[in-house]
Amino acid sequence: VALCEAEAAPPARSGPGAVEPRFNWKLFCQFLRPHLLVLGAAVVLALGTALVNVQIPLLLGQLVEIVAKYTRDHVGSFLTESRNLSTHLLILYGLQGLLTFGYLVLLSRIGERMAADMRRALFSNLLRQDIAFFDAKKTGQLVSRLTTDVQELKSSFKLVISQGLRSFTQVAGCLVSLSMLSTRLTLLLMVATPALMGAGTLMGSALRKLSRQCQEQVARATGVADEALGNVRTVRAFAMEQREEERYGAELGGSRSKAEELGRGIALFQGLSSIAFNCMVLGTLFIGGSLVAGQQLTGGDLMSFLVASQTVQRSMANLSVLFGQVVRGLSAGTRVFEYMTLSPCIPLSGGHCIPREHLRGSITFHNVCFSYPCRPGFQVLRDFTLTLPPGKIVALVGQSGGGKTTVASLLERFYDPTAGMVTLDGQDLRTLDPSWLRGQVIGFISQEPVLFGTTIMENIRFGKLDASDEEVYAAAREANAHEFITSFPEGYNTVVGERGATLSGGQKQRLAIARALIKQPLVLILDEATSALDSESERLVQEALDRASAGRTVLVIAHRLSTVRGAHQIVVMAHGRVCEVGTHEELLKKGRLYSELIRRQALDAPPPETPR
Ligand code: ADP
Ligand code: MG
Repeated sequence: VALCEAEAAPPARSGPGAVEPRFNWKLFCQFLRPHLLVLGAAVVLALGTALVNVQIPLLLGQLVEIVAKYTRDHVGSFLTESRNLSTHLLILYGLQGLLTFGYLVLLSRIGERMAADMRRALFSNLLRQDIAFFDAKKTGQLVSRLTTDVQELKSSFKLVISQGLRSFTQVAGCLVSLSMLSTRLTLLLMVATPALMGAGTLMGSALRKLSRQCQEQVARATGVADEALGNVRTVRAFAMEQREEERYGAELGGSRSKAEELGRGIALFQGLSSIAFNCMVLGTLFIGGSLVAGQQLTGGDLMSFLVASQTVQRSMANLSVLFGQVVRGLSAGTRVFEYMTLSPCIPLSGGHCIPREHLRGSITFHNVCFSYPCRPGFQVLRDFTLTLPPGKIVALVGQSGGGKTTVASLLERFYDPTAGMVTLDGQDLRTLDPSWLRGQVIGFISQEPVLFGTTIMENIRFGKLDASDEEVYAAAREANAHEFITSFPEGYNTVVGERGATLSGGQKQRLAIARALIKQPLVLILDEATSALDSESERLVQEALDRASAGRTVLVIAHRLSTVRGAHQIVVMAHGRVCEVGTHEELLKKGRLYSELIRRQALDAPPPETPR
């Protein structure tokens, strides 16, 4: 069996030494492609805004020039002379607002659509992954890739186009108009600004690092509190309140001192940058003023210069903030795209189906060895051989942790065996279509049924999406569920809670049975289906299961041996192997493992007839 990426990867947790995957530009472009036209329009509008912004300082300078003239001479009408200029400025302001509105609308349209497409693609690919993939990952992490990471990528993208493009154009445009105003001043500015920006960026990156450490420390403190509050019963039972307080206090102290350090850093940064900024203004005024005094520059031009140079500085500051955002966006994007391209070892569909009329339902495990991909060193099944004859009930018993559920998972093809093979009617499961196998051949009922937060009708129909209402009722009757469903005021339209919280364990289990039976499976797997139930529900569920078992190939996994007496064959497994096979009587007569288990359970548990 070839190992795929998911199996070969060490169980999650990308430490500092782990090789980070790269940002997938190709995939990004694929998502961008449908929006290229709109993006082009947005870029044009953003550039337009920037060009308008470059114009504004020049006109302001001219206005100042007029004002200055009237402070000197007091002749003519200020209003008439400035009217043209003011109207021009007003029009530019209006245009700037309109363009800004335009490109922001277009950008948010692109961003939201791309984000939705990415989420859809990622979700769909996540659902396709092997069960082994989910064994190794935390659900919370997967969900955060769908939410936070996509969000981060989207906002970075929007910022780069809007702020980035705009700031860049403004810097370029203003530098051109600055140099037209005064080459000497511009040269001075071009030396001073990058030097200051460089120093600022250095400080900024140090601050960012500090801020990340700060967040990590806060997360550690929160983790301690979360654990203690979430498991308060255990904390109370061990009288550990004092210790938890100390633990939380220590982490909190760490986060406080880090945060203070960050605060001092930010304060220093702000203080220094305000000094630098003011010195730049003063320096420009001083040098510019001497130029004005030497008749090499007009007062209005100096004003234009001041406003334009501040636009440059603001834009460059924007760009440096943007840089951090881009880095974050790229790493978020890397996380988003990582699982979009991951392909599972066991595909959802593909392979051939056996036509219903030829299907007998005989299942054989041939010398199967298996260890879970996330625990490769630990062999759960060793040379496991077992045949489930068609139409017969085989019970699998053995100690908890012995590998019984694993056998069922292999049959469902949640995993492939490491060695050996599982066959259905003599054909290797790996050659058969998994979706056909799971959807039409095998019905699986587990100890903890999971219902979805919708109506009972929909929950049962989950087993066969095109089932008619009649089929749903029939399945519910077969599963002993019809009666309790119709006793609800809303009958089949009753909405069950997220995890079926409004139903009792036995009711949930009977709905799960109906859901499995509606697909008329030829093979039924019952994995400790009744062991979580009280004896009254157990009777109802067992009755339904007995009825459902008739004429099917059934694998009953049971911990409680009283429930498997009627099986055609009982298989006792230990240490990942089959140890004993036979009927209840035969195995009792042998007097080995099975009779030992029976004896032990008779000692442990009260007889099944007495309510517990
Ligand atoms: P049983 O159903 O007989 O109680 P299981 O088949 O659930 O036993 O488990 C057999 C062994 O495999 C146990 O040691 C268990 O810890 C391990 N195991 C079960 N599921 C997984 C999994 N998803 N990943 C890794 N190990 C597992
Ligand atoms: Mg189990």
